[in-house]
Amino acid sequence: MCATPDVVICGAGATGLTLAIELARRGVSFRLLEQREHPFNGSRGKGIQPRSQIFEDMGIVDRLFAAGGPYPRWRTYLADGSSRDTDLADGAASTAAEPYRQPLMVPQFLTEAVLRERLAELGQRVEFGHALTGFEQDADGVTVRIATPEGGQSVRARYLVGADGGRSFVRQRRCASAFRARRWACGRWWRTWCSKGCRARRGTTSTKMTWHAASRCAR
Ligand SMILES: Cc1cc2nc3c(=O)[nH]c(=O)nc-3n(C[C@H](O)[C@H](O)[C@H](O)COP(=O)(O)OP(=O)(O)OC[C@H]3O[C@@H](n4cnc5c(N)ncnc54)[C@H](O)[C@@H]3O)c2cc1C
Repeated sequence: MCATPDVVICGAGATGLTLAIELARRGVSFRLLEQREHPFNGSRGKGIQPRSQIFEDMGIVDRLFAAGGPYPRWRTYLADGSSRDTDLADGAASTAAEPYRQPLMVPQFLTEAVLRERLAELGQRVEFGHALTGFEQDADGVTVRIATPEGGQSVRARYLVGADGGRSFVRQRRCASAFRARRWACGRWWRTWCSKGCRARRGTTSTKMTWHAASRCAR
């Protein structure tokens, strides 16, 4: 484990593991934090779509194909009680440019297990039971606070990557100030619009864009 890594990755799901492997392959130092004590053993994602040749670059395509299998046919029941079976894949043959055209059915916990195995081969590992609890960014990098089973840690890194899922703590914290600034700007525009009855097209567009950007940030 590197005391002053270039990168701290928050979250060791599919995204964090993939990034960790790519950094390890390039010799970039990092720490990969995961708040769970153990790997997630459920499966949300069941299918990996074509373009899985990225797994070839990572050196795990054979293992993933061995862990998974082809999709079964899709059965649709019709109103008259009959049924129709179709292939989910388009059936087009693989080519040299696009060698893995068929979707692969493999549960997410197996995909992540293969990714962790590859990471271990590259001499790295997930730090389970390590939760990111806060961070401060400055001009030179970021100071990260981590809760570990042994107590709190403070780590200095050049980059922090939020790979911590849909309700990302990192994105929420990072975007909170930007969101407030945009909301203030938007509120000021709205008051001006109301008081002057101004319907300038440019203003309308920019407000929509402001809210759109802010809501994306807040998600
Ligand atoms: C019902 C359902 C079906 C799906 N089906 C498919 C499918 O068929 N194929 C497909 O490709 N995708 C599918 N997906 C999407 C897929 O599950 C997600 O895209 C994938 O899990 C995203 O991976 P991730 O690593 O970005 O996030 P996650 O898998 O959410 O991992 C984030 C990790 O960050 C950790 N974390 C969070 N906060 C902190 C913190 N503060 N400190 C440290 N660690 C933290 C979490 O514990 C978690 O392990 C499906 C999703 C759902 C909900």
